[in-house]
Amino acid sequence: METVVSGIRPTGHLHLGNYFGALKNFIKMQEEHNCYFFIADYHSLTTHPTPEDLHSNIKQVLVEYLAAGIDPEKATIYIQSDLPETAELYLLLNMNAYKGELERCTSFKDMVRKYPDNINAGLLTYPVLMAADVIIHRASKVPVGKDQEQHLEMIRNFASRFNRLYNIDFFPEPYAFNFGDNLVKVPGLDGSGKMGKSEGDKNSVNLADEPDDIRKKVMKAKTDSGPTKDNQTKPDEIQNLFTLMELVSDKSTVKHFDEAYNNCSIRYGDFKKQLAEDMVTFTEPFREKIKELAADNDLITKIAKMGAEKAKESGVTTVKEAREIMGIRNL
Ligand code: ADP
Repeated sequence: METVVSGIRPTGHLHLGNYFGALKNFIKMQEEHNCYFFIADYHSLTTHPTPEDLHSNIKQVLVEYLAAGIDPEKATIYIQSDLPETAELYLLLNMNAYKGELERCTSFKDMVRKYPDNINAGLLTYPVLMAADVIIHRASKVPVGKDQEQHLEMIRNFASRFNRLYNIDFFPEPYAFNFGDNLVKVPGLDGSGKMGKSEGDKNSVNLADEPDDIRKKVMKAKTDSGPTKDNQTKPDEIQNLFTLMELVSDKSTVKHFDEAYNNCSIRYGDFKKQLAEDMVTFTEPFREKIKELAADNDLITKIAKMGAEKAKESGVTTVKEAREIMGIRNL
């Protein structure tokens, strides 16, 4: 049995990228492994949400992940700040994380480009906090999308550096995991690459979206003027829509539109209508369950409390041992 950790920032709704990139694998793994899923509220502070937004988003994300299939009896689902030892481990790891390697991190460079007025230390040390989240449970597998590959490499560096420095085999080196051969990257609707919360709400399809919102978003997705030659290569924005269709539609539907594209008879209106309807059908059971759970405050509070207790069982011990290894011991 392996230990598995995955997480999400409470900064918006759970979208198809989160689901297919990470959650789907986590849900499968909870059947056989020792699985921890955390809601990364400390992480989300880098962008300064209002306290009210942060508070309500934490509950919303908890509800959405439970609705999507995390079973609190099988896996531990908890709020990151309910395990404050994470912050202590982050401090300990920061002593051996170097400015150069942190500055070279692609996601840091992206944030510097996007938000030049808010380049805070939390952003720079984001991979260190992420390392603390993962190694606090001494996890070996992290189900994540392709966007997290570089962070995982950094986590392995921090873990192995600790082991080398203290001459001990304490932290395992964790790997990004997907049941398929490759890590998944779910494209967004605007043709520019990744579906994601920071890419804007119009770009993502959320499990909680109402059917009409999904239809509107998909019908507005970027397309070109259509193929002019048989079997021509699809431009990115069209390929992205096909990639999304492969996730939510039957094989025969994908085949039908692929053939229509290849013989230039495709009508993008019909293609997008079909994609939207298949997304509506795919998300329907989640949508219903989200509404049901969101109305049951007592249950949500109970699950959060249970998760916090289970997370502490493993996290407190790791940090206590890490301190001792480093020389912070009782006199
Ligand atoms: P977001 O990118 O929407 O802000 P997070 O960064 O909080 O979401 O990521 C939560 C999890 O979802 C991570 O494991 C990440 O790899 C995965 N994920 C997010 N977007 C995608 C995507 N477009 N394709 C694949 N996986 C994704």
